[in-house]
Amino acid sequence: MGQVIDCVAIGDVLMKELVAETEALKAKGITPGIATLLVGDDFGSKMYRGQVEKFCEEAGFVYFNENPPADVDEAGVIEIVKKLNADPAVSGILPLRPFPEHISDSAVINSIDVNKDIDCFHPYNSGKMALGEPTFPPATPSAVIEILDRYAAEKGIDNKDFYEGAEIVVVGHSNTVGKPAAFLALNRNATVTVAHVFTSMKGNLGKHTLGADILIVAAGKAGLITADLVKEGAIVIDVGINRVNVLDEAGEPVLNEKGKPKTRTVGDVDFDAVEPKTKAITPVPGGVGSVTNRMLMRNALKACKIANGM
Ligand code: NAP
Repeated sequence: MGQVIDCVAIGDVLMKELVAETEALKAKGITPGIATLLVGDDFGSKMYRGQVEKFCEEAGFVYFNENPPADVDEAGVIEIVKKLNADPAVSGILPLRPFPEHISDSAVINSIDVNKDIDCFHPYNSGKMALGEPTFPPATPSAVIEILDRYAAEKGIDNKDFYEGAEIVVVGHSNTVGKPAAFLALNRNATVTVAHVFTSMKGNLGKHTLGADILIVAAGKAGLITADLVKEGAIVIDVGINRVNVLDEAGEPVLNEKGKPKTRTVGDVDFDAVEPKTKAITPVPGGVGSVTNRMLMRNALKACKIANGM
């Protein structure tokens, strides 16, 4: 039986640490602030925006909401970024994507002050991470590493012994999760393999995942990782978040009171089948997502300190 890592508890500890650090800063007359930039009204981005606002309130940060309409032009969005760059009350800027099609991601991201780029979107900060000197390690991949660090510490395993030479396989190669997770693991001297959709298409996924001491999955595909793809005694970190229909015993969708299929949130790992094979595993929900926002806020605190010469 694998240990189900209590990521909610890790998130709570991190929040306490953040609150204490924020209070110490406030005692010096300094308050961290986060600004989100949402263009238009994408549903997922609005949900994320709401979470950031809630966490800012909990930690004692100032929160700024920039939400121009979807038909704003690119120059208008960049003007907003410049205003946030110049505002000393804004420690960190978080662009919420997707942007509408007429707005270039890179044009907006490249206009963010690199010292306020708290989710490591700017090529300068991505480059520093690739060189092993991240200022702002991106929130989701650093949540993965934070969970692993705390697991190792809880087991009394030296951090170096835990990572150095360990076989870490990352499934997914997105710029926001898979690739940076691979860099952060490589920076800890793990032997890192990155598998992605083309690995699966060649039928080679298991060839790689079966060698993983630590398997990090970020593909956004419910049920992708089945028990036959996991080595006995592996540690499995499931980053995926997927909505799937709730099925009855006959495999038919269960309907809600409005006659629509009931849904639930699952990861990319077939948890029930995989968990018994693992040494430890993160659940979904209540997994990596419970830590991600805390890492973003930790970066905002760092940005605040940098801005104040600390
Ligand atoms: P993404 O941009 O869609 O990337 C998914 C990656 O998985 C891509 O590299 C894709 O390859 C690869 N992939 C797709 N199908 C695959 C398959 N069958 N086998 C192997 N690889 C496959 O998504 P993302 O932003 O990286 O996010 C990944 C998942 O994590 C999503 O479910 C997302 O909701 C979740 N997420 C969770 C958190 C959190 O805090 N827990 C935060 C962010 C994201 P190609 O690009 O080549 O198609």
